[in-house]
Amino acid sequence: MRACAQPIFEIGALVHSATPPRLLYYNGSMRLKHLFPILGYFFLLGLGVGHRFASPQKIVAKESWGLFATIPPSEATQGSVLGTRDIIQAGECVLAVEGGMILTHVNKSCALPASYVPPGLTRITSIPTTGTEYLRGGDILNYLNQLYGAAKTSGFNLSVVSAYRSYSTQVATFNYWVSQSGYAAALMGSARPGHSEHQLGTVVDLGLVGNSDFASFTASPAAGWVAKNAYKFGFTVSYQPGKESITGYISEPWHIRYVGIKLATQLYQQKLTLEEYLTRE
Ligand SMILES: [Zn+2]
Repeated sequence: MRACAQPIFEIGALVHSATPPRLLYYNGSMRLKHLFPILGYFFLLGLGVGHRFASPQKIVAKESWGLFATIPPSEATQGSVLGTRDIIQAGECVLAVEGGMILTHVNKSCALPASYVPPGLTRITSIPTTGTEYLRGGDILNYLNQLYGAAKTSGFNLSVVSAYRSYSTQVATFNYWVSQSGYAAALMGSARPGHSEHQLGTVVDLGLVGNSDFASFTASPAAGWVAKNAYKFGFTVSYQPGKESITGYISEPWHIRYVGIKLATQLYQQKLTLEEYLTRE
């Protein structure tokens, strides 16, 4: 079982926009303080200065409410529905929106709601896959195609082993491993539902054509090529070597997440994972 699936329980989600992080807690009920930035936005629109910011602002509103407004307040402190006692403290889960790209924090602590399905899911038909694979709509598939083409030019014939994973798929997968090896062992190699970055639809697991074994990919020069070049196409390697204590995962050179070229380049140059970037002070 690959480790890139991750763990469940819905938690209070926090939203911050750009830097410095300013956190707003969305628990499903509109609070007065949330109205101020919205009213301010329309005020700026009225002044004719909103055009420049129109796109990202739209995403902030649509995505943040779509992602987190549906979490019942009771679940926010309930802990895992699968029986762990983990509780996320307010302030730990971040939905950052920068440059119009959703950078939701999804890890072993922060989960996506069961109801979250990325918009515009698009089937990958331009790259060999091991099954029917989908990505979030927008430009991501275009950039993945470019990465694929560049890799091929360099002599690496990549495939997509896994892309979007629905919440229900994560439930089935995790329960399978629990039934096979017990809860503790399942946690080591799998993820509780909602805790997989794959649910975002912005993540792919790469493999070699004809060989979807991750160990083979890791041992191949293709892994080194991806580590050095993925950022050029807007992707970052989520689980990097030497960052295990930060990400909670062993190195997964095959698991790349789209964050946009600008941020991916910054992460690459500063040798940061998205995890570190989102939790930076
Ligand atoms: Zn993965």
